[in-house]
Amino acid sequence: MSRDQYTFVNPADLYADIDPKKQHQPEPGLDAELAPKADLGEDTYRGTGRLAGRKALITGADSGIGAATAIAFAREGADVAMSYLPEEEEDAARIAGILREAGATVLTIPGDLRDKEYCRALVAEAVEGLGGLDILVNNGGKQVFNEDITTLPDDQFDDTFATNVSAMFWITKEAVPHLPGGSAIINTTSIQAYSPSDILVDYASTKATINAFTKALAQQLAPKGIRVNAVAPGPIWTPLQVTDGQPQEKIAVFGEDTPLGRMGQPAELAPAYVFLASAESSYVIGETLNVNGGMPTP
Ligand code: NAD
Ligand code: MG
Repeated sequence: MSRDQYTFVNPADLYADIDPKKQHQPEPGLDAELAPKADLGEDTYRGTGRLAGRKALITGADSGIGAATAIAFAREGADVAMSYLPEEEEDAARIAGILREAGATVLTIPGDLRDKEYCRALVAEAVEGLGGLDILVNNGGKQVFNEDITTLPDDQFDDTFATNVSAMFWITKEAVPHLPGGSAIINTTSIQAYSPSDILVDYASTKATINAFTKALAQQLAPKGIRVNAVAPGPIWTPLQVTDGQPQEKIAVFGEDTPLGRMGQPAELAPAYVFLASAESSYVIGETLNVNGGMPTP
């Protein structure tokens, strides 16, 4: 590794080579088709044993932020169960290979988060296959822009809530009885929770819900020693953005309005999840860790 996540660098200069042009993929999109490639930490994330022996379930673990988190967790010593859609097998297989190279036990459990029965079976299979569970990362999500509420399809509204909110509820409800004291639940929210875009009415609403869910549940589960926190990314280069997460013309300037002046890479998110998963954050509960290039948040 020529550089890793501890190398002293000017963050304004990082990733100058990753400068995408207009592009589009059908949902759910593939990291394999992103041009230029996103940095998932494949060549940069260095583990130091911060999650040794831990057992993690991550949704949306095939690509983007979930994949970067999976790589970091495996290199920190955790075993990982990966959830993703069947159409994403190509991305999932590549990530599973990287995790296994790091020495992790890996379970690949494809399915649709909008399906309650899948969500329940996912937890059961993860617990069975990993021999328990002590980290849950609710990260899978849907984002499709729409400029006019009178044309926002009812099924899009329902699917966005089912994927981003209902699945988080079903999976967490099923997981909690299995989680020992010391476990961590980490939900993925967004800058959209506080600074909603006019074209992301449904998506932004789910992200505000995730923040409230996190802060309410954190208080409920703290006495059991289960810590619930959230990560709130800003603009990050992932398949979500090119599958109508943004209008085409915004892709080329994506993230340029942040104080840092650039979009972020999934690899820059992973350390936030590692911190919240690890015992080193033992007194951090109900927190939203913003990783957004400097945009002010409440
Ligand atoms: P991504 O496309 O790489 O990951 C999203 C994943 O969600 C997909 O890989 C897919 O596996 C999963 N998913 C979507 N619909 C599903 C379904 N019906 N069933 C099963 N799995 C499904 O994009 P990402 O940006 O890494 O997204 C991860 C999380 O980060 C999402 O919750 C997203 O809202 C959040 N987020 C992203 C950004 C950003 O700029 N990229 C910003 C803020 C928040
Ligand atoms: Mg994907």
